[in-house]
Amino acid sequence: MATINLRDKLKKTRQTFKDKFEDFFHSDKDREEIIDELSETMILADVGISSTEKIIDALRQKSKKSDHFPRIKQILEEEIIKILSQYPSDFNLSADHSVVMLVGINGGGKTTSLAKLAYHYSQEGKHVLMVAADTFRAAAQEQLALWGRKLNIPVIKGQYGADPASVIFDALQSFRARQSDLLLIDTAGRIHTNINLMQELEKIRRVIQREIDEAPQEILLILDASTGQNALIQAREFLKFSGLTGVFLTKLDGTAKGGSVISIVEELQLPIKFVGVGEEEKDLLFFSSQEFVRALLS
Ligand code: GDP
Repeated sequence: MATINLRDKLKKTRQTFKDKFEDFFHSDKDREEIIDELSETMILADVGISSTEKIIDALRQKSKKSDHFPRIKQILEEEIIKILSQYPSDFNLSADHSVVMLVGINGGGKTTSLAKLAYHYSQEGKHVLMVAADTFRAAAQEQLALWGRKLNIPVIKGQYGADPASVIFDALQSFRARQSDLLLIDTAGRIHTNINLMQELEKIRRVIQREIDEAPQEILLILDASTGQNALIQAREFLKFSGLTGVFLTKLDGTAKGGSVISIVEELQLPIKFVGVGEEEKDLLFFSSQEFVRALLS
């Protein structure tokens, strides 16, 4: 993981800030002009209106009228880090038998992200088992099976049309019998306004809770960063489903909307735990607010 260059992956969002910062360094704009222009830049980078306003208010309060750009930039960095680190990003796999569920709409990157986690933890020596709980989309099951073959990690699939909760029940028995360390569950992602999906997810969670103490340890909401503020609209539906522990933000590579990270944390009141920066199994990063801000702004 350490070899991925986040600065490089954030190139497009970074460019929006970089152009502006160069302009500030080479001009003698006063504090008010700088703050006004920063506000526009943040909106362009998809930081979102309410998070932008919050940051701008803090810039006004914490800077002096006579401050120049370097000081304002320092406050900007501190404020963004403050927002991003409000909720701890630790990934809780302390239990011997940990269960992790991934939820989110189709196409967001659930299956790919699951494979990335499976790869990472199997490289760390954990015995990992993956489950395809979307029994209505044969393609989703097949896609996970392909990953399983590529990564040499076992995959449990259900019968087409079977109750996903019963597939999970069987998977949990197998997880115990094999004495695996980590069970990763890929769930269905039919349109997010579908109430049945939320009920299905609740049912899966109840089955897991009943079968294994303190599980599921983590329920990650998969959000596609390239959709910017739209990711928030999708996410709100999933907030109706209880128990989310964090966000796995996908497709942060190549998007100019990376500023959405800030409003996602602020509005969903959830930490970002991982980011996806490509289509391969290795394209995974644990989220760090300091690293993110450094990669974006410095
Ligand atoms: P699902 O329907 O939510 O399971 O989504 P998939 O895992 O099938 O991903 C949908 C598409 O997004 C696929 O083409 C993936 O290769 C791609 N994808 C997933 N994560 C990333 C990422 O972090 N970066 C990029 N560039 N593409 C990604």
